[in-house]
Amino acid sequence: GATIELEGLTKRYPGSDRPAVDNVSMEIAAGETVILVGPSGCGKSTTLKMINRLIEPTGGRIRIGGEDVTDMDPVKLRRTIGYAIQASGLFPHMTVAQNIALVPKMLRWPSARVRDRVEEMLDLVGLDPGEFRDRYPRQLSGGQQQRVGVARALAADPPVLLMDEPFGAVDPITRDHLQDELIRLQRELHKTIVFVTHDFDEAIKIGDRIAVLREQSHIAQFDTPEAILTN
Ligand code: ADP
Ligand code: ADP
Repeated sequence: GATIELEGLTKRYPGSDRPAVDNVSMEIAAGETVILVGPSGCGKSTTLKMINRLIEPTGGRIRIGGEDVTDMDPVKLRRTIGYAIQASGLFPHMTVAQNIALVPKMLRWPSARVRDRVEEMLDLVGLDPGEFRDRYPRQLSGGQQQRVGVARALAADPPVLLMDEPFGAVDPITRDHLQDELIRLQRELHKTIVFVTHDFDEAIKIGDRIAVLREQSHIAQFDTPEAILTN
């Protein structure tokens, strides 16, 4: 994993009268799983998108492993950050295998290693490679698409994972399995994970620390699940 430091992070969308994210500072340790919980519209997705450089902050800084993300070239950024979102974000014109192979290929992994990795990732998220490898996203259920989205985020073994309600559309049994896998990844592979959810039970289960956010991502509480449950 790598540390993530947010310093005075701010985003004001053009034409809006107040920032969606206002002056947020947070330090996340290497190998830590931090959960962002808070009401819809409080700026959780905006925060993740800024960390992943999908949108530009209007103020503040983001450092990953001590390096300002604005100094990272696109390849370095893809190598560093895996991103999984609720709407899976799969490319519809690519098969499941092609979607999962995207970043490893971009990083020029040898093709045999890419093929093995695709199988490994499908196994990890509970999809039979023989059955699902060559399907297109439209041939999958919503939950299956999400699992492929998670497989794609993990494929290149990035030190940092950003996950925006990645299990929202998955059935309860698969969700439980994926949560356990995430805990294992964090324990064994020391991923640094920032995870957005509405589900407080999920936050308690997988978080090392939970940031309870109010409007504009103001941090109301930032503590361990134990401490949050006793307050
Ligand atoms: P959350 O993920 O916590 O639900 P978001 O980060 O999606 O919150 O949104 C935070 C605020 O920013 C909301 O008020 C939302 O309407 C606004 N917002 C999000 N995306 C845009 C955008 N592209 N343009 C303008 N306003 C936006
Ligand atoms: P869910 O209730 O999870 O949304 P669906 O009803 O969409 O599931 O799909 C049920 C099963 O049918 C899933 O295993 C899915 O992979 C399969 N399926 C759905 N659409 C197609 C399709 N167009 N081609 C092949 N298999 C499909």
